[in-house]
Amino acid sequence: MAIVHMGVDDTDSPRTGCTTYVASLLVEKLHRIGVSFVDYPNLVRLNPNVPWKTRGNGALCLRFKCTEEQIEDIRQIAVDIVEENSDLDYEGTEPGVVFFFGKIIPRELADFAKQAIQGIVKMQDAMRLIKATKSEAVGFRTGRGILGALAAVGETLRGDHTYELIAYRLPSNRGTPRRLDAVSVFKMDEKTKDLTFNNVDSETGRILITPHGPDPILYGIRGQTPSAVKRAHKMVASLESIERWTIFRTNHGTDAHLRRINSTLEAHPFHPVILTGKVSKAPRIIPRRHTIFRISDKKGQIDCAAYEPTGELRKNAKQLLIGDVIEAYGSVRPASKNFPLTINLEKLRVVKLAPKIVFQNPLCPHCGRRMKSMGVRKGFRCCKCGLRSSELKKVIVEKKRGLQKRLYVASPRSQRHLTKPLSRYGLEKPCQPKRMISNWFWINQ
Ligand SMILES: [Zn+2]
Repeated sequence: MAIVHMGVDDTDSPRTGCTTYVASLLVEKLHRIGVSFVDYPNLVRLNPNVPWKTRGNGALCLRFKCTEEQIEDIRQIAVDIVEENSDLDYEGTEPGVVFFFGKIIPRELADFAKQAIQGIVKMQDAMRLIKATKSEAVGFRTGRGILGALAAVGETLRGDHTYELIAYRLPSNRGTPRRLDAVSVFKMDEKTKDLTFNNVDSETGRILITPHGPDPILYGIRGQTPSAVKRAHKMVASLESIERWTIFRTNHGTDAHLRRINSTLEAHPFHPVILTGKVSKAPRIIPRRHTIFRISDKKGQIDCAAYEPTGELRKNAKQLLIGDVIEAYGSVRPASKNFPLTINLEKLRVVKLAPKIVFQNPLCPHCGRRMKSMGVRKGFRCCKCGLRSSELKKVIVEKKRGLQKRLYVASPRSQRHLTKPLSRYGLEKPCQPKRMISNWFWINQ
């Protein structure tokens, strides 16, 4: 018996395809020839900020047992399916397939995966690792997808992970509006939301399980367990036929991309970070209703941006005051002509609130009504009883803050695949599943 780890990446383009669909086709083919899967297909989201990312930047890995004699067939199946289902005419679609044989994933592959999720990896490092670990790689065109395919092999989702059941459309329906019974989606959300997440955006009432592009996905339901996403899927009434569905094990909603850094000096472009700092420049609104403020630490300063679609996050960021201490969670955007280095916020934690001090006119000593100013250094006058005074001074008042010391997260509609939603805090998983549920994929025959 051999254990095979097969990574696939970068088969899609903005106009068609989806690498999860390629993985789903591979599951079917491999199942037919009798391999035995040792895990759900792993859907590994890589650093969403690399400038050359594929849409969504997800790479796939299938892990299974087979006989030594089957390996040659399996190589051929993988290459054929990837070739047939990749948008190879599209400039920038550069599929890659990687095979690793063995029970234990070498440490250096796991490290490479972590780097691909949290930072940036290079082709030459991938090629060196493929050689060192006796892996095999097949690349189409420039084969840049080998990077993601290798990273997917290396990320075994040993710690926190979630599941996504993805249902696919018939080829004849692709490119047309998706037809689901919206009421059934809201009902499903209501009934399963303890164990599923980001089905709908409660602020806007928008359904989030359906994508909008020409890809083959009808919907994807995310959740804590394979049985939860399967149960939720059964509650969704689709008004079009489903071609197949597959349950993936993923790093969605786990914050796997974010790495805590110790100072602003470590905030490098395209890296997702968690950074603690003190607000040093008050929030301001820039066109399109984005909110920008600045935080500082002993080493330097960096801007933070909460974009309009982050909803609640932006509303709360607007209330920050100079002196507040926060943790900024998000990706570092390089400086441009108009903006300095900036963290694009996915969430923020208020660690310490500065007092909100305002100066108010004094209360009338005679009747208690708040007095009116008669002009600079001209004293105050009471509108109720007419008392005038040039002795009284403005008083310092500490106002209640609208913010609390807690975590604020972008609204679901603007969350990254990797962003851990508030509802998952406290539900993190410590280890891999011990066994798989039966029937974790289905094909419409
Ligand atoms: Zn008065």
